[in-house]
Order: sequence, then C-alpha cells, then structure tokens
Amino acid sequence: MSLYDVAIIGSGPGGYVAAIRCAQLGMKTAIIEKYSTLGGTCLNVGCIPSKALLDSSHHYDDAVKHFEEHGIEIPGEIKVNLEKMISRKQNVVDMTTKGINFLMDKNKIDVFEGLGSFKDATHIAIEKNDGTTETIEAKNTIIATGSKPSTLPFITLDKERVITSTEALELKEIPKHMLVIGGGVIGLELGQVYKRLGAEVTVIEYMDKIIPGMDGALSKELMKSLKKQKVKFALSHKVKSVERNGDEVIVKADNKKGEEVSFSGDYCLVAVGRHAYTEGLNLEAAGVQLEERGRVAVNEHLQTNVKNIYAIGDVIKGAMLAHKAEEEGTLVAEILAGQKPHIDYNLIPGVVYTWPEVAAVGKTEEQLKEAGVAYKSGSFPMRALGRSRASGDIDGFVKILADKNTDEVLGVHMIGARVADLIAEGVTAMEFRASAEDIARMSHAHPTYAEAVKEAALAATEDRAIHV
Ligand code: FAD
Ligand code: NAD
Repeated sequence: MSLYDVAIIGSGPGGYVAAIRCAQLGMKTAIIEKYSTLGGTCLNVGCIPSKALLDSSHHYDDAVKHFEEHGIEIPGEIKVNLEKMISRKQNVVDMTTKGINFLMDKNKIDVFEGLGSFKDATHIAIEKNDGTTETIEAKNTIIATGSKPSTLPFITLDKERVITSTEALELKEIPKHMLVIGGGVIGLELGQVYKRLGAEVTVIEYMDKIIPGMDGALSKELMKSLKKQKVKFALSHKVKSVERNGDEVIVKADNKKGEEVSFSGDYCLVAVGRHAYTEGLNLEAAGVQLEERGRVAVNEHLQTNVKNIYAIGDVIKGAMLAHKAEEEGTLVAEILAGQKPHIDYNLIPGVVYTWPEVAAVGKTEEQLKEAGVAYKSGSFPMRALGRSRASGDIDGFVKILADKNTDEVLGVHMIGARVADLIAEGVTAMEFRASAEDIARMSHAHPTYAEAVKEAALAATEDRAIHV
C-alpha cells in the first residue's frame, strides 16, 4: 500500500493548489478526483466555462449593438452559432483542465481517478470507474470536495428545462424566455449570457435587491444597467412552485403584498446558492464532524476535529470562491510544513463578471453603519473618464470607504468596465493598510479605468477629485 505525507480529496482550485504547494514543500502528495478531468467545479462547470460564454456573448452583443457606432459595418445579418460557441467554451475548459494534469506531473503528484472515501483517519479507499478499489495510506488528508447547486424543496430539476448552472453552460438552443430564480452571481452572469444571445430574461429574487451581499450602491447601479439591457426583475418575490408543462415552465411566486404572480418561460435556471458536498466521503469512518449546514467543521487552522484531517474551499464555511479555496489550500500546505501562514478573509475580493463588471473588497457601507464605524466615502463616476468615453463603457463608479479619523481604506467597491481586474489595487492597498491619501498620491496611467480609483481616493481624502 502506498504511503503519502498528504492525500487531497478533490481537485478543484482548493485541492490542486494545495497539492502543488504540498509538493513544493517536499511532501509526498496524492490527489484523488472522482471525475476524469481535474479542476473541479471551477474549471469544468464554473468560473472558466461561464467566463468563456460571457466573453463570446459579449462579442456578439458588441457586434449587433455597438460596432456601427464605431464605424464598423458588417454586411448581412449577424447570427449566433450556439453549437460553435458551446464547443469553443469546451475547448477552453479542456485546455485549462489539461494544464492541471501538466502541473500535477511537473510537481510529481500522484493522481488517482476515483471516488475517495475514508476507511479510517489515515486510510482512503479509491473506488475506480472500472469497479476496482485501491487503498492508500496518508499521514494527513485535506478534504477539498467542494459544493453542488442547491435547489428548493418543491422543485424537480429535470435538467432539460428546469436547470442548474451546469446545464445552462450546455444548452442546445437559445431560450425564448429564461426564468431565473435567484438574482445572485450565477443568475446574473448566466442570465446576461442568454439575454445577449436573444432570450427574454426575467430574474425572480426573494430579497428586495440583486447581489444582496454586496454594497447597496453596487446592487442599484447593476440593476439600472441590466434594466437598460432589458433584463426584467421581480424583486421581493418568494417562489413557491415550479412546474413544467411540455416545453413551458411556469413559476409561481408571492409578491411583497402576498399576491400570487405567475411567470411563464421555456427554461428555468435555478440559481439559489450552492451547498457543501460530502457525499460518498464516509466521514463517519474517520470521525470527522459536520456543522449544522452540512459543511465540514474546521478551526482557524482549517483542521477538523480529527487532528490529521483538514478541509478547505466550498466544503467549509465562508465565501464560495475559487480564490478563497486556493488561499486555503496554500494555508493548509504551509501549516503542514510547520509554517505560520495567515488569511485575512476581509480581503478576499468578490467579483461579478456581468458587464458592467462588479468588484469589491473589504467592508460595505451597510456593514460600517451597522458596526458604528465613523467613515468617509469618495466616489467617482466612470463616465467622467476619458478611457470610458473612448470605449463607450460609461456606466458605473468607484467608491472608496475610509476611516474618518485615520483615513485607512476600509472598503473598495466598483462597478464598470474591467473592474474585475481593477479590484486588485484595492486588495493591495488594504493588505498594506494604505490610507485613501496613499492611493490618491500614486500616479495612475492615463487614460485608464484605474484613474477612477485615484479619483475616488482623492474624493475620499479631501473631497478633491479633479475630473468632476
Ligand atoms: P470544487 O471546485 O467544487 O472541486 C471539488 C472537487 O472534488 C470536484 O472535482 C469533485 O468531483 C471532487 N470530489 C468530490 N467528492 C469527491 C470524492 N469523494 N472523491 C474524489 N473526488 C471528489 N468562483 C470564483 O471565484 N470566480 C468565478 O468566476 C466563479 N464562477 C463560477 C461560476 C459557476 C457557474 C459556478 C457554479 C461556480 C463559480 N465559482 C466562481 C465558484 C467556484 O467554482 C468554487 O468556489 C470553487 O470551484 C470551489 O473550489 P473547491 O476546490 O472548494 O471545490
Ligand atoms: P448566490 O448566493 O450568489 O445567489 C443566490 C440568490 O438567490 C440570492 O440573491 C438569494 O437571495 C436568492 N434566493 C435564494 N432563495 C430564493 C428563493 N426561494 N426565491 C428567489 N430567490 C432566492 O448563489 P448563486 O448565484 O447560486 O452562486 C452560488 C455560489 O457560486 C456563490 O456562493 C458564488 O460565490 C459562487 N459563484 C461565484 C461567481 C463569481 O465569483 N463571479 C460566479 C458564480 C458563482
């Protein structure tokens, strides 16, 4: 039986990064993945394919709506070839997942394909697809088994017309009317893909705003922008039934007044969150305990109640984000190597890849108010930037929240073109505990969207933005 310093169950961004860092630190490492491709949700049915479709649909939208204003004329009708778009997306996924195999080889990590389940705290059985089982011994194990889409108790996901994000990445036709339950990240990103491709899209959200966890100003601006793109919204609607009738899907919900409202479409995307996935792990055999919500319970070192078993990523508490899982993978590897790493969870950025993009780090204005923190706020509209006018992407703003007394940056919230990339400046500034004035005094290349960050910092420092 092979003996490993560490075995990792699950090869998503948490698992494969943990494996690489363990190998870099000299540990004999194994990774176990039940699917034939590595990379987990993120690479196979999450971050990467959704961004590929967002990019393709964005090109189409530009060609149909914006090329003309740039003086580009395309004779004849511009058409979508959905099959080709989906197949390109799959090529992107295949290239990316193969890259993980390369990294495993490069770092001399043993990859086992099969379902990993505990026999006890140091032995893991791997049930392979050919029906055979192999057992390995591991001094330490990292559980990185991720998450699966959640649903509502009364919904039957037929995976044809009542679907999750996984099926929405593989549709064979453009829906006429896609009903989206949940105005969170998945609902809005994939809703926008199909809206651009020609579907009518109605987002039905339980709360009174979309992307409810983010700063209220971002939520309002995104909704305004998506409404301009003709996405429809039904906020404060509690969905109570979803029924399929042939090619029609009917969603019934109660509105704020308690009245029943009925929505009819041909597809319904259920995007009401995700839940930790531990099925098949046989955690009882190792004695690993779960929290009430089915997540693996861990302490601040991401160690479970069994001292040689750790857990990371979507299967534990916290934001379900690839980069959060990656940081946790690195953290556990370094703990196992005797180091003392640290993660500041307040500084894990959140991004929504709609257009305009939305990105944030640190505290929201609502959180600062609730905590009674004295703060000041500086905002700068994208429309005032030369770069935005040149590209035509004028929606959005950057808002910087800073401590009223010390000027330390407490939160950075942005919506607009390419803010998914711009947020890295906010993270860097906050990691170094910069003041708003620090950012304001740094040179930002002109003309760039990043100038909005400098201007918002100037506005927060002394209300002295230059270009408004
Ligand atoms: P996962 O990526 O879920 O990987 C877990 C792996 O474990 C899977 O491959 C699974 O097959 C395997 N596994 C489970 N049980 C076993 C077992 N018993 N034996 C062997 N293998 C097992 N996050 C972002 O940060 N940015 C984005 O843009 C983004 N976009 C997303 C878009 C969509 C549509 C979705 C669904 C998610 C998106 N996410 C995004 C979230 C991101 O995918 C997750 O946060 C991330 O994948 C979590 O990583 P993980 O390693 O914890 O788990
Ligand atoms: P989410 O938590 O972002 O959004 C779910 C939404 O559904 C919320 O707005 C919630 O209020 C709403 N909702 C819940 N129950 C409802 C009901 N009964 N009726 C109507 N609305 C209801 O979850 P998601 O969009 O499904 O995404 C799942 C996870 O995947 C998220 O945690 C997210 O972090 C991750 N993800 C991240 C990205 C990214 O980083 N860009 C992209 C996609 C997914």
